Amino acid sequence: MHILVINSGSSSLKYQLIDMAGDRVMASGLIERIGEDMGSITQKSNPDKWPDARSVEHRPIPDHKAAMGLMVEKLIGEEWGVIGSLTDIDAVGHRVVQGGESFSSPVLVDAAVVETIRANVPLAPLHAANLVGIEAALELFPGTPNVTVFDTEFHQTMPPKAFLYPVPMDLYEELRIRKYGFHGTSHKYVTREAAKFLGKPVDGIDLITAHLGNGCSMAAVKNGRCADTTMGLTPLAGLMMGTRSGDVDPALFPFIARHKKMSVTEVDALLNKQSGLLGVCGSSDMRDVHAAREKGNETAQLAFEMFAYRVKARIGAYLAVLGRADAVVFTAGIGENDAFVRAEACAGLEGLGIKLSPERNESREPGVRRISADDSPVAVLVVPTNEELEIAHATKALVEA
Ligand code: AMP
Repeated sequence: MHILVINSGSSSLKYQLIDMAGDRVMASGLIERIGEDMGSITQKSNPDKWPDARSVEHRPIPDHKAAMGLMVEKLIGEEWGVIGSLTDIDAVGHRVVQGGESFSSPVLVDAAVVETIRANVPLAPLHAANLVGIEAALELFPGTPNVTVFDTEFHQTMPPKAFLYPVPMDLYEELRIRKYGFHGTSHKYVTREAAKFLGKPVDGIDLITAHLGNGCSMAAVKNGRCADTTMGLTPLAGLMMGTRSGDVDPALFPFIARHKKMSVTEVDALLNKQSGLLGVCGSSDMRDVHAAREKGNETAQLAFEMFAYRVKARIGAYLAVLGRADAVVFTAGIGENDAFVRAEACAGLEGLGIKLSPERNESREPGVRRISADDSPVAVLVVPTNEELEIAHATKALVEA
């Protein structure tokens, strides 16, 4: 079975074609600058065989439908193609950021599903492009099952005491203002992989999962289900991130607006795009932060400490939420690769049962690995995430059912 996984953003489209026999990526691509004067498409075919080979092409791409047409051209084209025709694609899986309260599992797309996703757009207007992508795919692949997998669905098991905000309840009833959480596909994937690694059933595992990438979120997972998470109504909440502030005193909004004479939109952009690591030390990329602090840059050192401190504080909070944990799981760009951040976030937590092994933490072995000491009551794991594969598996399961 060949499954095409699609992640459509406002001006971009990412895709992967996966051969489900062996979970092999046949091709992956990125189409950018959709709707601009000149767009681009980059595709890697057979990346396991030729990791460095890529095709890059530039041409105007007026809209998402054109982008998908271009994707299909590449996937079946002579030079870079990996399939013979469109009918070789058995199903399409779409990443959708906001499922609201309507979706707690993947669904097969029909007209009603499209309308429900449309009704949720006001909760995440920046991600209206997800819907555009689905509509374009429905036109392009008539008769092929399309499945949606939501970033929010894993977090739908949170209890009201965790997902409600202490504001007047009519705001929740009228506007559905609540914590939704994001990166759910990643938290779900690493939960299952961690359970497999530890030899426990998923529904019997308690974890603290930390997805630390450009965007960052953590989840408290009780019996394999999300009990709490750090992101909220929007991805701005929780941990410090590349360019997002994470949690701040909400009174900062009116304070900044008043004192800097900024509009709501400008303050929103300040906290989403100019804050986090970038705001503190001028770089949003953790590798650059390390390079700067190694040269003695004090604000880079501070940004690193602030970042790791917030992860540590959440580990403590989520241990309290869960009462116990089988493991703390690190994933995504920073979580998988950055031994400094992991060491700093876990430092001094021996009293809570978390003890890293410095050698294991620094080893760069690929795949799922334990980085805690043998006598650490709570395991600490690095689990590489794979959201596309999670979407492909969910799509396959639904199509087969
Ligand atoms: P992601 O959003 O998961 O792609 O993660 C992006 C973040 O991961 C950026 O802050 C990168 O600096 C960070 N990252 C990627 N590779 C490494 C690495 N080898 N060491 C430290 N950070 C890394």
